[in-house]
Amino acid sequence: MAKRRFIDIGANLIDSTYSGIYHSKTVHQYDLDNVLKRAWAVGLEKIIITGTSYEDSKKAYNLSQTDKRLFCTVGCHPTNCLEFEKDESADSYAEKLCQLYKDCGSKVKAFGEIGLDFDRLNFCGKDEQIKYFEKQLTIAESLKAPLFLHCRAAFQELSDIIRKRDLHLSGVVHSFDGTPEQANDLIELGFYIGINGCSLKTNDNLDTVKTIANNKILIETDAPWCDIRATHAGYKYVITKFDAVKKEKWKENAMVKGRNEPSTICQILEILAAVKEEDIDQLNEQIYDNTLQLFFPDEHC
Ligand SMILES: [Zn+2]
Repeated sequence: MAKRRFIDIGANLIDSTYSGIYHSKTVHQYDLDNVLKRAWAVGLEKIIITGTSYEDSKKAYNLSQTDKRLFCTVGCHPTNCLEFEKDESADSYAEKLCQLYKDCGSKVKAFGEIGLDFDRLNFCGKDEQIKYFEKQLTIAESLKAPLFLHCRAAFQELSDIIRKRDLHLSGVVHSFDGTPEQANDLIELGFYIGINGCSLKTNDNLDTVKTIANNKILIETDAPWCDIRATHAGYKYVITKFDAVKKEKWKENAMVKGRNEPSTICQILEILAAVKEEDIDQLNEQIYDNTLQLFFPDEHC
């Protein structure tokens, strides 16, 4: 068996749970080093740490500088978009994001995560989300940066905005949970489809991923979120299981129940290969190659 190799294109490694802090309460010690040890052990070769605001993108960049296998994105998540209005001006916030992206040099792999999330309008209303999504697309265009897009319950709006702008940027729509038609539409617009545990929850989800061309799929964990649970439709195809303990019972060599981490990326591949009835090693190589093509073109041959 060929050694499997992975790139997690979306991991929120600056999340406080990797420092043992849950809902502002310290439950266990900092353990990102253990999390990363487990990640490298399953064959992860690179991890792209998601940036979700100016401050968090700075943290993601700082963390990426601690290991040559870590990278980052820079951008403001739709649920954080009111940050544009809390800054001196929306333009000054945009300028800070743009400058940070430039400062990150070869460590930054995408402008993101940006997009629309109409499931969580309590954090930021529709109009503001659209306004600051467009503003960030303008920055990404000026930087010619690949996009790391988030889209929840806003498919038509996102697709319309991109089509209307005649955007010529590559990128990925991560955590995809739409229909086969929506996947096709995004592929037509030039995007890859990012699959994580949230994309494999229901039988409809599985039917959809079956239809997505292998050369358009990227995989990610979206850790600490989107873990694959026993109640999910995809779970029955998981081969690799990990020891997990409750956070209160934390121990060095076990995962924490309910807190996803990059090492579970192998489970995403296992489900995809089973559902698509593909040879798992061939599919692994194809997805690895797709990821290099989009985010590490210098290493792609
Ligand atoms: Zn997201």
